[in-house]
Amino acid sequence: MKVWVDQPLLRTPISLIIDDSCPVINKAWFWIEQRHQWRMKQAKEEPPSGWERHYDKLAIMPRLIPSEFAREFGEWCASEGIKGKFSFIPYPAGIGRVDQGFPKEFPRDELDRWIDIVQTIIAPNFDITPEMITHTRVMDLKTDRLTDEWEQFEWCDPPINLLTDYIGKALKMLQKAGIRCDGVTSPGGFGGKKEPDYARAVLEACQSVWGIATPFYFLHVWTDRLPEIPLWWVNQEKGEAVGSIIGCTDDWFGATGWDLSDPDLFITESLGGGRLVEVIQSHRPAIMVGHFPCFYANQRVGFQTLKTVKKRLDSLDPSGTRLIWMKTSEIARYQMAKELSQISVDVSDRHQKVNVTIRTNFPSPYFTLGLAGRIRAAVLGEQEVKKVFSLRMFREGTFYVPDASSFLALPLKKGVTQVTILLEQ
Ligand SMILES: [Zn+2]
Repeated sequence: MKVWVDQPLLRTPISLIIDDSCPVINKAWFWIEQRHQWRMKQAKEEPPSGWERHYDKLAIMPRLIPSEFAREFGEWCASEGIKGKFSFIPYPAGIGRVDQGFPKEFPRDELDRWIDIVQTIIAPNFDITPEMITHTRVMDLKTDRLTDEWEQFEWCDPPINLLTDYIGKALKMLQKAGIRCDGVTSPGGFGGKKEPDYARAVLEACQSVWGIATPFYFLHVWTDRLPEIPLWWVNQEKGEAVGSIIGCTDDWFGATGWDLSDPDLFITESLGGGRLVEVIQSHRPAIMVGHFPCFYANQRVGFQTLKTVKKRLDSLDPSGTRLIWMKTSEIARYQMAKELSQISVDVSDRHQKVNVTIRTNFPSPYFTLGLAGRIRAAVLGEQEVKKVFSLRMFREGTFYVPDASSFLALPLKKGVTQVTILLEQ
């Protein structure tokens, strides 16, 4: 009897990654300003690169992003059912620390409001991650002072002996502010030249600060091939693994607010083209990437693009049966459950009864099994699994029989899960 793990609830995962979000300040403004100062001091003869090319726009670029906007954005995403990942840089641009408060020149209480909004409105739908400590200059862990090295430049090739402590420090700063993290985000290519060591450091830091053995990190974007979810440092006995979450789009929302912003690159108005459509058609997780500054700056250009993209995605999936919005941690853990669980199948009573036993250290909600036969009844442990008659109604704790195959969605727990299935005659 053929049994396989299918897509969660037979839907294609979709997710929104927001990078460079941080409390109080507009990270784009400070990044550009600091990179400019750095270049004037260290590499004057080189031309400006990356966001620094927008140095002439600092006068019109907002320096701060108000907590009220974070609230509006978070509430809108919640009302639209959007899930994903939201960075919360603990010491953004080395300006102020979430665990110690911001300098006096910044509006009083804004940090507290920002933290409260992230905890109560954004975190229910988005994984919150550090994007390392400052996203600009490296912090010296002994003195807490900023150095002349940059997290996303020199530390693409980081000193391994400091890496776990550095990531751990970022996590602890957020922990002190009451923010839980199931993974981390690389500022730029941070860690990229030593990815196995970086992945190991993410695992060890998440384990020591939060006791999390199945974290994720976001480092790569692939726009030229179909995305995957590589797993690193798998230890099935201990239930340990690290998931690499790979974005499938560039930031076509507008990055700083003055970069390319075009909904058609995600999904065209006709719904027939765009990178998201290509990835969704392949049934791979469609994880789009944006930077928070553009959602606010330049008349909210990125927010307008997101609203258009979401409307089109809703048109692509009018019945809500094709896509499932997930946090990035959920996507990583579903992949772990899919790849790292042992499934054994025992058929008896003249092929009428099937016992499926799943052993795993990698739990996941709505773990969806496919089975080559028509299920008549199913029992999970002692509990009856209900039959549903449409994909729309298919959810955890139900089974669905669209044709010669059947599908069963279970809350997969750590340990042993037993399902007894009776097939139609
Ligand atoms: Zn970033």
